[in-house]
Amino acid sequence: MSEIILRLDNERYISFPKEGSVYSESIKEDCPYCADPDCYANCDGSAGDVDGLESEEQMYDRKVINTAIDTVESLLLALSEAGVINLVKDNEKIVEAVQITLDALVNHVEGE
Ligand SMILES: [Zn+2]
Repeated sequence: MSEIILRLDNERYISFPKEGSVYSESIKEDCPYCADPDCYANCDGSAGDVDGLESEEQMYDRKVINTAIDTVESLLLALSEAGVINLVKDNEKIVEAVQITLDALVNHVEGE
């Protein structure tokens, strides 16, 4: 299969580059120090937090959101591989569902 993309807007998308593989671009929240979404107090800036850019609570929320986004990606991949959804044919509907899911996720985590 060739790469399939679920494009949420100009910057954010979920890509399925080949069978059994998924990654997202600009959907996860980045570490404010090093811009790596998978950094949680690992880089020099965040470990020392000299600039006070991210509190421990903000980092925790970011981790919850990013982990949930990983889960959404894995679920989409699994549903696609099981033949339950068709990423090409159902692209528009899946994008809509992902947007609703991400909105609910952020509201839930940051609205606590
Ligand atoms: Zn970092």
